[in-house]
Amino acid sequence: MIGKTDTGQAMKLLIVEDEIKTGEYLKQGLSEAGYVVDLARNGMDGYHLAMTEPYDLLILDVMLPDVNGWWILKSLREAGKEAPVLFLTASDSVDDRVKGLELGADDYLVKPFAFAELLARVRTLLRRGAVPATELYLSIGDLELDLARHRVSRGGRHIRLTAKEFSLLELLVRRQGEVLPRSLIASQVWDMNFDSDTNVIDVAIRRLRGKVDDHFEPKLIQTIRGMGYMIDLPDDNT
Ligand code: CA
Repeated sequence: MIGKTDTGQAMKLLIVEDEIKTGEYLKQGLSEAGYVVDLARNGMDGYHLAMTEPYDLLILDVMLPDVNGWWILKSLREAGKEAPVLFLTASDSVDDRVKGLELGADDYLVKPFAFAELLARVRTLLRRGAVPATELYLSIGDLELDLARHRVSRGGRHIRLTAKEFSLLELLVRRQGEVLPRSLIASQVWDMNFDSDTNVIDVAIRRLRGKVDDHFEPKLIQTIRGMGYMIDLPDDNT
């Protein structure tokens, strides 16, 4: 099943990478994982292949000898090519990451990386399909989430959250106005199933409230008794 489309055909990937050893290594590994893989050694070859062949996913190195990975992505998106893009970058700088995401990249990996990590990202992107994940910010009222930098602010004040708290808040804000049962929160944020009597979720919600609601008005996180939690702007009382 892995590496196949719904119609049973192998998924087709393009790697654009000028470092010969890295390119060959990735091509071999992904081929062994069941994908059909093309490898381009410079930017223009990669660009032309991506413009003419129907790829399910592109893996673009940023630093190439001719045109860089950003140019390729920008040009493809302008031409209406929506295949998901995973960037390979030598730099861990936030600017690079934000630039890639703003141009419409779906994910990125910093070199050096483990092949298993790359394969996991590839599988996730292919599962997600061609839905572009170009969203960079989420908000409700004056609460804002910067998804690329994992930063949260309310009323312009920076709020420090743990990774789990951020995931929890992101889930609530993405589905604002919707009551989320504890079981759903558990599976989405903790990736596991909790017994219904556990209070892990409640404790996490209480901590999150302490940070994003306690010193602010209006209160956004709502407890829906017997059902779960919801984030929403309160009804207008006028
Ligand atoms: Ca390179």
